Amino acid sequence: MGGGVEQQWTLVDRIPQPTNSISPNETGQLGKYIVTADLLIPGRGQPIKDAGVVIDGTKIKFVGHIVNIARTYGHLPTTHVKVLMPGMWDCHVHLMGTHQVSSDAFIESWKNQVLAGARSARDVMLLLDAGFTSVREMAGYGLQIDKAIQEGSLVGPKIYSSNCIISTTGGHADFHDTPLDWCHDMQQHGAPFCVADGPDECMKAVRKQLRAGADVIKICGSGGVGSERDNPVDQQFTLTEMKAMVEVAAQAQRIVGAHCHGKAGIDAALKAGVKTIEHGSYLDEESAELMIKHDAVLVSTRLIVENGLKLKDFFSPSGYAKLKATAEAQEKAMRIAVKKGVKMATGTDTGVSMPNSIATQGLNGKELLYHVRAGMTSLQAIEAATANGPLTLGPRAPKSGQLLEGYDADFIAVDENPLDNIEVLIGGKHISHVWRQGKCYKSPGHPVRII
Ligand SMILES: [Zn+2]
Repeated sequence: MGGGVEQQWTLVDRIPQPTNSISPNETGQLGKYIVTADLLIPGRGQPIKDAGVVIDGTKIKFVGHIVNIARTYGHLPTTHVKVLMPGMWDCHVHLMGTHQVSSDAFIESWKNQVLAGARSARDVMLLLDAGFTSVREMAGYGLQIDKAIQEGSLVGPKIYSSNCIISTTGGHADFHDTPLDWCHDMQQHGAPFCVADGPDECMKAVRKQLRAGADVIKICGSGGVGSERDNPVDQQFTLTEMKAMVEVAAQAQRIVGAHCHGKAGIDAALKAGVKTIEHGSYLDEESAELMIKHDAVLVSTRLIVENGLKLKDFFSPSGYAKLKATAEAQEKAMRIAVKKGVKMATGTDTGVSMPNSIATQGLNGKELLYHVRAGMTSLQAIEAATANGPLTLGPRAPKSGQLLEGYDADFIAVDENPLDNIEVLIGGKHISHVWRQGKCYKSPGHPVRII
């Protein structure tokens, strides 16, 4: 988990070497086929040796031992792989098309949304190449990018998006150095943030996200690291405001996820009915118990913190000091959460279009290393990155993230056993195959590509 890991994974590593073998089910077409494996990791539950899946269209029809598959489905085209597991979920990304980390870069992407979308096209390909078949986007242009993916104009994961991030005036998602009217104007013109104060404005802000088709509602329950003039330990939004947003979201069967670093914000969000805590940096034993009581999920996003510590130049001196304090607290918080048995789903907060940097999309699998460092087994880390992903969408959770009959045919093959070395899930180098919704998007010699 030292610096060496980051050096090792580059874009070049992710280009598969060509081979001549391709089975009928690897042509990107839907149909009935079998994929067998030396080891099948189901997402939840124990791995099974010599097992496989039978796929029919976009769904998994059967999962079991190869003997049982052969008996009933032996005539179908079959691909054999080393390790089969569900496609991974990154439950906290941003697709904003910024290629720097600064307020100016964000504002550039608000002003030039086609440019932001064009940059994001590569980001979603990198995610799919790295074995991420679903992402939960917690603010950005994901709803529109997903439309392009679903209609076949782009290749990428399924995107479940909050559309905007909702913040108080002067809160984490306000731009403190920019005149307030300019911020309001950018929001009116499609920038993915929304400033609201008081229960009435807060309810309207949620309704605007529902109008846009948001799958989940994202609010700022505390200050942030990157925002100029607030403090990550301070609560943002009052309990009354948070309750109002949770109520409106619940009417439309959406849950609310709250960006929360400080304990006050975490506890208030949970009491208001928020179901996912994003970051959770100052979570203590008491907050962990509250999370369990409220059946909430922690999305700890350690990767952005680790990257931030290495990218000091991107921060102001005060911003870097906030980051260091938050990083230290979060390391303890993650250990507490794992030890207490808080439900955790993998999320990285990866959100910039910087393909040659450590902050690029496609290295999201590093978060599993941080899960293991916090005390999870490799199998638990894989569960956080697969079966637990849909839990972050509440009633809108799709049947995904597990190799189970009737579930979405979103699954990947790995050419080395991730239970022996979790690092093989970093980048696309060891991800030999990627299927999403029953279609094969990557196989040896056939990298992920648009056409
Ligand atoms: Zn974020």
